Amino acid sequence: MKFERVYDLFKEISKVPRGSGNMEGISDFVLAFAKNCGCKAEKDEHCNVFAVKEAAPGFENEPPMILQAHMDMVCVKDTGVAHDFTKDPIEIVEKDGWITANGTSLGSDDGLGVSMMLALLESKDPMRKLEFIFTTDEETSMIGATGFDCSKLTGKYILNLDEEEEGHIVVSCAGSSDIRLQLSYEDLGYEHIKSDKLYSLTLSHFRGGHSGIEINENRLNALRVMGEILGEVNKLEGFKLASISGGQFFNAIPKDAEILFTVKDASLIENMLADKLETYKLIEPDAKLVLTEKPGEEICVYSDAATDRITAAIENAPHGVFTMHETIPGFVETSINFAIIRELDDCLEFDFMFRSNVDDMMDKGEEAVRKLSEKVGGNVITGHRSFGWEEKKDSAFVPYVCQKFEETLGKKPEVMGVHAGLECGVWSKKIPGADPVSMGPTLNHPHTTMEEASLESLEHYTRFVDAIVKGKI
Ligand SMILES: [Zn+2]
Repeated sequence: MKFERVYDLFKEISKVPRGSGNMEGISDFVLAFAKNCGCKAEKDEHCNVFAVKEAAPGFENEPPMILQAHMDMVCVKDTGVAHDFTKDPIEIVEKDGWITANGTSLGSDDGLGVSMMLALLESKDPMRKLEFIFTTDEETSMIGATGFDCSKLTGKYILNLDEEEEGHIVVSCAGSSDIRLQLSYEDLGYEHIKSDKLYSLTLSHFRGGHSGIEINENRLNALRVMGEILGEVNKLEGFKLASISGGQFFNAIPKDAEILFTVKDASLIENMLADKLETYKLIEPDAKLVLTEKPGEEICVYSDAATDRITAAIENAPHGVFTMHETIPGFVETSINFAIIRELDDCLEFDFMFRSNVDDMMDKGEEAVRKLSEKVGGNVITGHRSFGWEEKKDSAFVPYVCQKFEETLGKKPEVMGVHAGLECGVWSKKIPGADPVSMGPTLNHPHTTMEEASLESLEHYTRFVDAIVKGKI
């Protein structure tokens, strides 16, 4: 397998639209490519492509290996860029050894993994039996991996090519669960009032961030901050809460929040906010707190008891790190993100995303939210759950991969876990005896228009992966 060919193949697949949910075209391309290489290949109902390359003479007794990458990419573009992700090719720009796209995301996540696999399919070099899984929609539902029929596989050693930093050998990923606490308006209590003035208080421009990877960084949760403010303004004369909301995604630390309310004298709030902002800015330098006056109207507000309960619910809502890994310094093992407050038709909802790299901890998130409901009432609902991948203590594959890294690149890799989801979570649960590793060349800012990939690192990984499939375990 040659680096130039891998790079060419990346350029080829960049011409085929492959945003999550739009998988037919790329799936047909990969299927035809594999068949063209003389390999057995098939496409399933989720548009996954599975291909098998038999062992070369001399490799018949070597254990087969599974290679895996996801075909879909996150499609984002800069404002004003006229790019149609359903038909336009990604325009690759090369500069100083790095590639980016022109005003759009690049799709190096995980197009580089796909390209390396295509180059291996095509390679005439002697190597062991390889099984290739090209999955779909990893970035959204992971339906490709979860729906894949693993009974066709013969290999146990799995090379997932979806890691984003050279030298990282990933051996564990987090499972997750979405948990909701719903407090019905009926139960909370509300009243209709006529108010002269209505105020909106918005809190914005907090840094937010990835709910797993950045959960242990010193960032403020905008909902928690709003809860603290609510606790204080709630004591003011004539305060009535009309609405509360904030946060946008389960998997993002909330960066904004808003309350609507009435109060007798709003000037007292102005002073309080200025003081608070000074403190918040120490941690969130761009934070904004804005109080706006709106014309009064006949409105529905929460009862005083309801506002007390909402305040208590926010104050007691679990957020942050539960446990750190015992031996890997700085590695978060279990955490929860207090992600969203939203008002639905009949209830006020608090949303949480829980993650753990340890299977035995997976119910702790629901337990924590149940504890909250014991204090403040409401119903707890557990929604989507994804599989975690616990480190395999007796892995034969990890030391082999590390040895090949050192032999090929002359430096030691870092064996680590990630506090985020990977398709390896699915493989570790669905393939008996699975022994996965996740790795990949360096790329920065995935899922943004600043996405860039290092060609030097891609060259390194072409040699590294080549050595893995040709070496003997
Ligand atoms: Zn990816």
